[in-house]
Amino acid sequence: MTIHLMNCFTDNARWPSNMKTGMVCLLIESEQGLILVDTGLGTRDYSDPTWFTQFFRVITVMPFDVNEAALNRIRALGFDPADVKHIILTHMHFDHCGGLPDFPHAQVHVHKREYDAFTGKSFNWKNAAYIPRNLAHKPELTLYETIDSKWFDFDAIRLPFSPEIYFIPLFGHSAGHCGVVIKTNDGWFLHAGDSSAVYNDTTPKWLIHLVLGPHDARLRKFKQDHPEVLITNSHMFPEFFDQHSTIS
Ligand SMILES: [Zn+2]
Repeated sequence: MTIHLMNCFTDNARWPSNMKTGMVCLLIESEQGLILVDTGLGTRDYSDPTWFTQFFRVITVMPFDVNEAALNRIRALGFDPADVKHIILTHMHFDHCGGLPDFPHAQVHVHKREYDAFTGKSFNWKNAAYIPRNLAHKPELTLYETIDSKWFDFDAIRLPFSPEIYFIPLFGHSAGHCGVVIKTNDGWFLHAGDSSAVYNDTTPKWLIHLVLGPHDARLRKFKQDHPEVLITNSHMFPEFFDQHSTIS
């Protein structure tokens, strides 16, 4: 079993200008074929960007390089994108699922609350990041809601894969946001999505709470108590990708 960490969306802050991030998307070589966790922007976001992506190009600094699309990252690793059979989504904001149309035959796994928020009619400022065209190809969807497991002291939902993979419901940043936990050869790897910023000690706590939801303090404590568990968030500093290009 191998997990490849790919930066599928570089997005740097205008201020402070030294705050640079790439988006952690995972390519898991599983017994069920290749599994992608989050997609970053898709190729259409580069060729035909939505107003929302254009808005982010103004308020942040994006190299906007189509080679960062998961489709191209996977090709660069030597895999055939058609072999991606499953896509697990932490949530459905534009920068996490824009690449879904690049894998039209992949089965999409997401929490039911997130899908309901994505397809719901209620508009608020957070829902603006849901871009309907990312599901226009009508992929096969598997929706999850029932807690059936524990992972440490977190409620968890087992996904039908080997190695073991779980959703950890961490609602707040979006309605049905989940972390994704993967069993590795040596232990566990937690992709906490946009639920926290556990490597960031400069952003004020109130701002993290406002944007990412209520789980940051708990995940920081967990990281302290369990140094054996590798944790990532979605938006990570560039060196992280060099330090962890593959995990097995
Ligand atoms: Zn998000």
